[in-house]
Amino acid sequence: MSSSRANSFDHGPHRAVTTAILKGVLVCSPLVCSPLTLPLATAQPHEATAFSVPSGSPDDYMQAGAAFARKLESQVEISFRDAQSGSLSVSRVEGDSVECILRTSPGIAEALRPLGRFLNGRIDPKTQAVFALAHEVGHCKLRDALLNRSDGHAGDASAFPWVAQEAAADVYGILSIEREPGGNAAVREAVIVSRLLSSALYRDPHHATGHYVSDSLALCHRNLDDRDAVQCAIATAYYTVGSLANDARGSPYAVDSIPEFFYELGVQTVNKTIRVYESIAQYKARFSGADLSRYAFDQISRDGDSRYITAISSAQHIDATRELADYYGFRMGEVVTDDQLHVTALRIDGAEELDWLLTLGAVVRTEDGESLRKGNTAP
Ligand SMILES: [Zn+2]
Repeated sequence: MSSSRANSFDHGPHRAVTTAILKGVLVCSPLVCSPLTLPLATAQPHEATAFSVPSGSPDDYMQAGAAFARKLESQVEISFRDAQSGSLSVSRVEGDSVECILRTSPGIAEALRPLGRFLNGRIDPKTQAVFALAHEVGHCKLRDALLNRSDGHAGDASAFPWVAQEAAADVYGILSIEREPGGNAAVREAVIVSRLLSSALYRDPHHATGHYVSDSLALCHRNLDDRDAVQCAIATAYYTVGSLANDARGSPYAVDSIPEFFYELGVQTVNKTIRVYESIAQYKARFSGADLSRYAFDQISRDGDSRYITAISSAQHIDATRELADYYGFRMGEVVTDDQLHVTALRIDGAEELDWLLTLGAVVRTEDGESLRKGNTAP
């Protein structure tokens, strides 16, 4: 879709790549990579394609979903991928705000898996697509709210188990749709019933949100604006943790107790485990995931603030550059090296983006044999 921000990246003229020393590059056929020592540069490498966030063509329903997601979060970056089944969100911390990146199939049938089969007949396809993307925005809003706590500190959303984060995202999506003029009152029941059916059929405890969503909505009395929906999503996350803690203790509260009991228990439980940082800057400095630690990253070239980087899966020695660009929304394209090799590479622009790559656990080896890693990012 042409209005997609993801699509509007990088259609400027190709940029010359000026640093051209290529050493120890892995050359990859579609499946295997082997080390290759390249001669010193004799001509300038250059970008052979536009570097962009991968993006396909969404159908009408997914376009409606994307428009709604942008209404909820104007800065959202949406990437439509043909190979994608379902929808997901990732968040990138930029400065002191969270950049929300959604990745989804361009077709509604794939994008709504596995919930769609149960939503069919309960709500119309357009509302399904709108719900799916509003749910993903809800994930971003929850992470953002925890990083920007009212006391000025930054909390780590991973203190909440997955099912609690899912329930919060569902509630955010439901309330966002209900707030629309002539809002769809059927969406609440449709989501709850579909989650119950889907989690039972697929034996998927992470998405078994139906019961939690149904009860926690009773905690939310106001839905006048986006802040109310975010507050309710947070309450739902705590409610879910409390409900799980109650189960783990042999159910001192009966399942039909008032939801406030479970909510309070959730607050106590999370406060014992959540990691709270002084600020987002401290969170960024200390937090380091291990997501990308199993890949070998090689910087094959650098042009000022832009670095061209390939990623190889350490275990299977398979080129994973395309897969990682897809998943994390990094710009990707082809660089032609000085001896006419076409190399698929990520382009990492600037210190913030490099910091994010390293925060995800990447260790990047530069042309000079230097290793860039979190805590060691000298310019
Ligand atoms: Zn989700």
